[in-house]
Amino acid sequence: MPLVDSHCHLNADRFDGDLDQVVEAARLAGIERILVPGWNVASAGRALDVVGSHPWMDAAIGVHPHDAAKVDERAWRALAAQATDPRVVAIGETGLDYDRVFSPIDDQLANLRRNLDLALETGKPAILHCRSAAGKRDAQDALLTELRAAGLGGPRRAASFGDRPPAVVHSFSGPPDYARAMIDLGLAVSFSGLVFRRGEEASAEVAALVPSDRLMVETDSPFLAPPGAPRSRNEPEWVRITAGWVAERRGTTVDELGWGFVAAYDRTFPRTRPRG
Ligand SMILES: [Zn+2]
Repeated sequence: MPLVDSHCHLNADRFDGDLDQVVEAARLAGIERILVPGWNVASAGRALDVVGSHPWMDAAIGVHPHDAAKVDERAWRALAAQATDPRVVAIGETGLDYDRVFSPIDDQLANLRRNLDLALETGKPAILHCRSAAGKRDAQDALLTELRAAGLGGPRRAASFGDRPPAVVHSFSGPPDYARAMIDLGLAVSFSGLVFRRGEEASAEVAALVPSDRLMVETDSPFLAPPGAPRSRNEPEWVRITAGWVAERRGTTVDELGWGFVAAYDRTFPRTRPRG
């Protein structure tokens, strides 16, 4: 069965020792597409290295909300240069994290705006991380406000993206009405092992809502291992567990959904170079 892992940090140092074996296992599990996102300049460079040696994969470059306060103008110049690399198909990951708040919220908002601008300039979709503290939705509400203010629902978006998704809600977390607003804005939605965690029960309803041409799955490796995967380090092959969960919510099977994930991935992240 064909699968995708739309968000997989194979550029994390936890994969330094055995990356080739992990990639081989992913191939054997039927994974046709992997997107490797950076979270700051150094990890973006490593994402480009991974994709350089595995040309069937794609990279994303951008600044995570955790790193928002640590990125200076020199780093932004480097990121803007990386963004034009043909191996880069998306901008991120970026977003808002009001749960852990490793960077002050004002810095997170400024950083998000800068990443969204880069996405609109390059026509490469933004990859959005969004987490609120348990039982809250303030980060989701703020993200929606920011996307609208940046013009993701208007003519600026159409000029950069046509009818393609201008952004991906990665590792979905939030209430169904927020999901509906994101879908109405034209965004794609990707589910991770987070859906199995306590407090994320609303994701079951959302998994049935997303139009199939904007529906993806991911591991967020090495994080967010789903039940049944080793908790010590998540790996792309375990995306099949989350894919099975999504299929169940939609009353279908992974065999039925698999090529749909690939088509949604290719539509969201078109490449300008041949698939190696
Ligand atoms: Zn991530």
